Amino acid sequence: MKVLSSVNKMQEAANELREEGKIISFVPTMGGLHEAHLRLVGEARKRADVCVVSIFVNPTQFGPNEDYMKYARDLEGDITKLDRFGVHLVFVPETEEIYPKDFQTFVEVEKLDNHLCGLHRKGHFRGVATIVLKLFNIVKPHIAIFGEKDYQQLKVIQRMVKDLNIDVDIVSSPIVRDESGLALSSRNSYLSTDEKKSATCIFKTLRKMKEEFDMGLNLSKTIKQAGGKLLTEANIFDIDYLEICDPETLESKDLAERGDLLAIAVRLGGTRLIDNIRL
Ligand code: AMP
Repeated sequence: MKVLSSVNKMQEAANELREEGKIISFVPTMGGLHEAHLRLVGEARKRADVCVVSIFVNPTQFGPNEDYMKYARDLEGDITKLDRFGVHLVFVPETEEIYPKDFQTFVEVEKLDNHLCGLHRKGHFRGVATIVLKLFNIVKPHIAIFGEKDYQQLKVIQRMVKDLNIDVDIVSSPIVRDESGLALSSRNSYLSTDEKKSATCIFKTLRKMKEEFDMGLNLSKTIKQAGGKLLTEANIFDIDYLEICDPETLESKDLAERGDLLAIAVRLGGTRLIDNIRL
């Protein structure tokens, strides 16, 4: 497995692979790798000759009071995992090379940003879209894999690829959970034992809300009230959002329909956790 940090070297490697007719798949990550990342890598490997993983904690997608500095970093451990998992190339750029002093170009996906995390993390998706487009231009993949846990991110990337005619196939991969149902996340490592216990109620709440819908309830307000009550009982009081929305536009819905997205973001201590399911 090769580890590259220079943008030029990565572009040269990608050009050579393309000249040889190789199909390149790509998994962008911020490191702190866990089982879910490796599942994405497995998908990527299945679909291509060469699998590239990037590890880059992208400063432009963090707000000023967010966890950029303390984000779970473990480069050595990550590289060992990727090597064992049969990844061909890891791209680990330096922040200064990705964002030199005079950097001033950003990508904004406008309407999708007006919902869910976009409302609570101003500028987050601008940072995400920008880094993903840059990484696509550097790694030059044919296929890129994104997890459904970050559902809004997936939609933003799909929209950007369509709107800007980017020649990359976007593949989505289902949410990976632990045995309690908690969606795996690098941020789970911040949770205390008590917080972890509360966090397991996030998925249980979503499932319960879906059950209410399955039993014939379709007023979003009522379904959300039932969910809110369960969260409070689990000592989760800081709820950024609990929404039932259109799975494509992400607009909130008053009346829930089969296939709608049920999305949640909560804060436990200083840790922000997100999850979603489809009705
Ligand atoms: P991150 O390192 O958190 O930026 O995540 C890198 C990729 O892994 C993104 O496409 C995420 O959506 C995906 N991912 C992270 N956690 C999960 C999970 N529990 N299930 C599915 N995909 C995930």
